[in-house]
Amino acid sequence: MSKTFKNFIAGSWEAPTTGTWFENRNPADTRDLIGRFPDSGAADIRAAVRSARRGFEIWRRTPAPARGDVLRRLGDLLVRHKEELADGMTREMGKVLAETRGDVQEGIDTAYYAATEGRRLFGHTVPSELRDKWAMSFRRPIGVAGLITPFNFPLAIPTWKMFPALVCGNAVVIKPSEDVPHTTHRLVELLLEAGLPPEVIQLVHGRGASAGKAFVEHPDVPVISFTGSTATGSFIGETCGRLHKRLSLEMGGKNAQIVMDDADLDLALDGVLWGAFGTTGQRCTATSRLILHQKIHDRFLRKLVEAAEGLRLGDGRKPGHDVGPLIHERSRQKVESYVAIGQDEGAELLTGGRKPGGERLGHGFFFRPTIFAGVTPSMRLAQEEIFGPVLSVLKVRSFDEAVRVNNGVTYGLSSSLYTQDVNLAFRALQELDNGITYVNAPTIGAEAHLPFGGVKQTGNGHREGGWEVYEFYSETKVGYVDYSGILQRAQIDNYDE
Ligand code: NAD
Repeated sequence: MSKTFKNFIAGSWEAPTTGTWFENRNPADTRDLIGRFPDSGAADIRAAVRSARRGFEIWRRTPAPARGDVLRRLGDLLVRHKEELADGMTREMGKVLAETRGDVQEGIDTAYYAATEGRRLFGHTVPSELRDKWAMSFRRPIGVAGLITPFNFPLAIPTWKMFPALVCGNAVVIKPSEDVPHTTHRLVELLLEAGLPPEVIQLVHGRGASAGKAFVEHPDVPVISFTGSTATGSFIGETCGRLHKRLSLEMGGKNAQIVMDDADLDLALDGVLWGAFGTTGQRCTATSRLILHQKIHDRFLRKLVEAAEGLRLGDGRKPGHDVGPLIHERSRQKVESYVAIGQDEGAELLTGGRKPGGERLGHGFFFRPTIFAGVTPSMRLAQEEIFGPVLSVLKVRSFDEAVRVNNGVTYGLSSSLYTQDVNLAFRALQELDNGITYVNAPTIGAEAHLPFGGVKQTGNGHREGGWEVYEFYSETKVGYVDYSGILQRAQIDNYDE
C-alpha cells in the first residue's frame, strides 16, 4: 500500500477538501509509487491563507535573531538528514545522488546564511538636512508570502524562498511542484521539528492550474515568489500586476558556453559535459548552446561526442550512473519534438536523439545525451528552452561574434567563457547579457551567498540568494524624529546663513 500524504494547514495535517489526490512516481522506474498527494483546490488555499495570517501576527513580533535561531536549528537538522533527503529526492526527481546531495547542501548553506541575517537585516541611519532631527530607514515584514516552486531543485529552491521570507518575519504558504511534493513535505516536517510556530508555515499540494492559480489570485497574499517556466511566469505576472502584488519571477534560460581558440580544451570539455548533461539538462542554468571558435571547432566536437557517448544513463540512486531520467513522459516528448525540429531546420545530429533501448531503462523517462552541430543563431534549437539533454553547437569566427550570438536570445540567465586571455575574461563579464557569467567554469554552479537571477525574459529584476533577496521579502520604512521643539519645514527652512 502506498502512503497517502496531506497538506499542512492551521497547524495540522489535513486531507484536501476536494477529496482527490495525485500520484508521485519515480521517474527512473514508474513502477515505484512514492505516494499519493493532495490535489488541492481554492478552499484549501483559503484555509491556508487564513491560518498564515494568524501565524504572521505571532511571527512578526518574534525578534529577528530568534527567527534566525529556528533556521540555524533547521540547518543542523538538514545536515543530520542529508543522506535520507538526497535519496528521497533522487527517487522522486531522478537526478543522481551526487547532485541531490548538492541540492541539500545548498539548503544547508541557505539556512545558515539566513540564521545570521536575523542579526543583521540592516537599515540606514543618515544625517537629516535639518537640525536636531533624526532620519533612518528600517525593515518590516510584509505579510503572507506565497511561494510556488518548480521540480528541478526540490529542496534548494523552496529554501531560497522560504528562509529569507521567514527571517524577515513573514508567514509562508508554499505550493511545491506536483512532480516533487515529497521533498517539501519533509522540509516542512523538519521546520516544525526546528521549532517554527505551526501557523507560520502552510503546505498546500496541488496542480498549477487549480491550487497554484487560486493562490496567486488570493487577495491576502501580498507577496508571490515564483520559479518555473517563462510561460507560467507570464501568466502569474499578469494576475499579480492586476492585483498590485509584489512579485519575484525566476524563469527559463538558454545558456551558452563559449570556447575560444586559446582555451584549455580539456577543462572546457569537462565544463560542457557537466553543464549540458548534469541534471539531464533540466537546470535553468543548463548549457544548451555551445559556441565554439572556428579554429578549435572540429577538434573539440570530436572529443565532445566521444565523451558524451561515454556517459552512463541509469537510476541515480545506484552507483556508476552519470545521467538520470527526465521528469516525466511529457518532458521526454518535448525533447523528442525538438530533435525533429532540429533535423527539419537542417542541423546535424551527431549523437543521441532518441531514448535508449533495452529492459534496464525501459521503465523510466531516459533520453540519450544529444548533440546537434551546424546550428545557426536563428534556429529554434538555438533560441528556445528545451529543458533536456540537448546541446546545440554554433561556430563563430571571433569573440565579438560569440558575444552577439550569446546575447541574441530572449533569455538572460547564465553564460560562460573559456579563455586564457584576461582581457577577454573581463570583457565577457561586461558584455555578456546575463545575470551570471562564469569564466573558465560551466554555466551551472551558483553559490547560496551570492545573488542569483537573470535578465530579459528570465526574470523581472529581483534576485534570489545572497543579501539581495532580503530586500524582496521586507518593506523599507523610514522614520524621522524631530527633537528641535520647533516646526522645521523640509526643503523650505535652511541654515545657510
Ligand atoms: P512550471 O512553470 O511548469 O511549474 C512551476 C510551478 O508553477 C509548479 O509548482 C506549478 O504547479 C506551478 N504552476 C503552473 N501553472 C500555474 C498557474 N497557472 N498558476 C500558478 N502556479 C502555476 O515549471 P517546471 O517545469 O516545474 O520547471 C521548469 C522551468 O523552471 C524551466 O523553464 C526552468 O528554466 C525554470 N527554472 C528557473 C529557475 C531560475 O532560477 N531562473 C530555476 C529553476 C527552474
